[in-house]
Amino acid sequence: KKITIAIDGFSSTGKSTVAKRLARELGYVYVDTGAMYRAVTLYMMRKLFVSEDNFDEEAIIRHLPFVSLRFEFNEDLGYGEMYLNNENVEKEIRYMEVSKQVSKVSAVSKVRRMLVEQQQEMGKNKGVVMDGRDIGTVVFPDAELKLFMTASTEQRAKRRFDELKDRGDDINYDEVLENVKERDYIDSTRDDSPLIKADDAIEIDNSDLGLDEQFEKVLKIAQD
Ligand code: C5P
Repeated sequence: KKITIAIDGFSSTGKSTVAKRLARELGYVYVDTGAMYRAVTLYMMRKLFVSEDNFDEEAIIRHLPFVSLRFEFNEDLGYGEMYLNNENVEKEIRYMEVSKQVSKVSAVSKVRRMLVEQQQEMGKNKGVVMDGRDIGTVVFPDAELKLFMTASTEQRAKRRFDELKDRGDDINYDEVLENVKERDYIDSTRDDSPLIKADDAIEIDNSDLGLDEQFEKVLKIAQD
């Protein structure tokens, strides 16, 4: 019987790695909700020049109806890539410039309402692994399996830094650490659906070495 799997946690805790692996093992659909918030942010940066000192919530809300998002499955990658108004933005949404603005845009209630609705639609047929910040609390409070991933701030920043470095981005570690901390702060203190662990979520500390072991454990729970 297919179920809904919700994976939440702070930035760069390894959520997407576990989520993708689970989806592959189970033959489920993987939905990266962070990519959706990132794509909306990219749109607003291009249209409204959203930046550190330029943030107009009303304007963002006015432009929301022009944002169209979809995932298109990429055979080689094994998961869906993010398309913004029919343009593949999978790479661009991971840039540091976007990471710096995404939490502010994600704190706008109307943005959340629109994306939560789309996520609920994508997951309505079960057999889905969704990762984000509010999946087990808001998007699918009835999910059969909820995981809450944690890891130390430094480890998370290191993970993120290595990822970006591997892709050839020109960044330094301190900048990444600063960004991870800032997003943690905004994500967990916003008024609308702040990041919290659902009461019935299983907490997984991803700092530990036994990653495969943990994964096997989670997989077993999912299959039961
Ligand atoms: O998962 P990722 O780190 O790519 O998410 C980027 C940002 O999108 C988060 O820092 C958060 O501000 C926002 N987000 C959110 N709710 C989700 C997923 C992501 O607010 N369900």
